[in-house]
Formats: sequence, C-alpha cells, structure tokens
Amino acid sequence: MVDNKFPGKDITENDIKEKFPLCAKKNQNHYSKFDVEGIEFGGNIIPVMAGPNMVESKELILDVASNVKKIGAHFLRGGAFKPLSFPYRSEKFNETREQGIEWLRMAKNDFKIPIITEIMEVKYLELISGVADILQIGSRNMQNYPLLTACAQTGKPIMLKRHYGASLRDWLGAAEYILYEGNSKLILCERGVSIPHTHRSTSRFALDLQVVPAAKEITHLPIVVDPSHATFWRPWINSMSLAAVAAGADGIMLEVHPDPDNSAVDPLQPINYKHFSELMYKMDTVAKSIYNRNILQ
Ligand code: PEP
Ligand code: MN
Repeated sequence: MVDNKFPGKDITENDIKEKFPLCAKKNQNHYSKFDVEGIEFGGNIIPVMAGPNMVESKELILDVASNVKKIGAHFLRGGAFKPLSFPYRSEKFNETREQGIEWLRMAKNDFKIPIITEIMEVKYLELISGVADILQIGSRNMQNYPLLTACAQTGKPIMLKRHYGASLRDWLGAAEYILYEGNSKLILCERGVSIPHTHRSTSRFALDLQVVPAAKEITHLPIVVDPSHATFWRPWINSMSLAAVAAGADGIMLEVHPDPDNSAVDPLQPINYKHFSELMYKMDTVAKSIYNRNILQ
C-alpha cells in the first residue's frame, strides 16, 4: 500500500498501523520515558553507558567501574559473553563468561553502578538477568526473534542494537517483538552500518546519525548512539559523540579502558579515563546548549 504521509520512504502509514503499532508514536510529542535503577531514559538526563568492550578480569572491571562512576557514567557496560567476529581465542582474547558475570556483580555491588551486558543465548538468560539492569541484544542478534521474546518476557529493560545491515523498518519490526510481550522498557541503539571502505581501513562501519531523527519521526522509543563500535577508531570518538548528542540521541554508549592500546578486544576504539572525563564535559555542554538536557548530574 502506498500512502502520502511519508512519500518515497520505505516506512508507510500502513506499516505504522499494522506492522509496528506499538513502536509507533501516537502523536508528534509522544516520547517514552521510563526509569532504570533511578535513571530516566527519554527525560532530562542523557544517560551514558561506559566501560570496556570485554569484562577481561576482575581487576579491570572494578577499576573501570570505580573510575567511570566517579567521572559521571550512569551505567557500566562490558561483555562477558561476546559475539567475537572470528572463532579463534587466545589466553588474552577469551571471553570470561560466567566468571565475567560474577565480576560484573562485584562491580555493581561495590560501586553502586547499574550494569548493561550482552545476552547471546536464551540458556544464559537466568544467569545474565540476575546481574544485568539492562539486557543488551547485540547487533548480530537483532533479528533472533526467540531471543528477543525470551528477553522481553523477563520484564527487564532491554537495549536492542541495530544490525549494521538493517533498515529502520526491520529494526522497528524487531523492537515490536519486545513490546508485543508487554515489555515497554525498550531502548534502541545505533552502532554503525556497513559501507564501502571509503575513508581508511578502519572504516568498517559508518555511524548513521541520520537514523536518530528518522527514528524519532516514527517511534516513541529512546535511542542510544554507540560511536565506539561505529567508528572503531579513537580519534573520531569525540566528533561523533558530540554530533550524536547534537542529533538528539537519548543516550551514549562508549568504550572506556584504562589502557586502550592493551584492550583485549578492539584496542583501536576505547578511550582512557582522562579522555572520557573531558568528553563527558563537552557532551554535557552540547546537551545543555541545544536541548536543555544534562549528561553530568
Ligand atoms: C558490544 O557492544 O560489545 C558489541 C558487541 O556491539 P555490537 O553488537 O554493536 O557489535
Ligand atoms: Mn566490539
């Protein structure tokens, strides 16, 4: 069915009514607001989720938790179960799995910082939802519908990352599976899309900032931007994070590591504590001046 409201766009009025009515805004000013562990999404704060790519060790995650909390991060991120692109592992490049989940629990208890961590398989749902305040569904699992449904049924807040090849329409279709289960604490996350490698070899993905206003035209769901996975390249983190806030992002996810060059996974993308602290201040300035929203509390 072709309609006139969004002429030439791949999302039609009919999609909004019949394919993802629960994702769709009921009116122009309809934006979801909800609380996760005392932190509001879609409100005056723009929550920041910071931490290492991987929960490498107990020492690392406790150190990062303590530092990012002090600097002003709202959530600690870190994967214990990782969707690594290649099957090879080494002593350093190895998921910490159940042990990593335990270390996240320690970090959460010691530093009173809520946790977001990735869930890849339904069989680990009980274990991971025991510590996660937000269940992260990674880009590679965006359309793993049984996983989406099982996560939604826990009632836990969920962050659904966009697959790097997915249209907004397919992303919202996946989001609808979560809302359909009656779970309304859902956050979208843009983490870069695949493009031809136009800039340099590190341009594996490009941050699709345009999807922020595009999503906000259609859906009431808050949208987080992850410049770390999108750029894969530390020198571009500041510009893309500031641009994401300016574009209207409702949250920012950033990889932070005390010794980025020695990060076990993706060492080109994390920023160190000093860099993170300076960037938090800059993002706060942008958020305040454009939207009267805050990053630092
Ligand atoms: C991550 O956030 O650790 C991650 C693996 O991200 P993505 O699913 O976007 O690649
Ligand atoms: Mn990664």
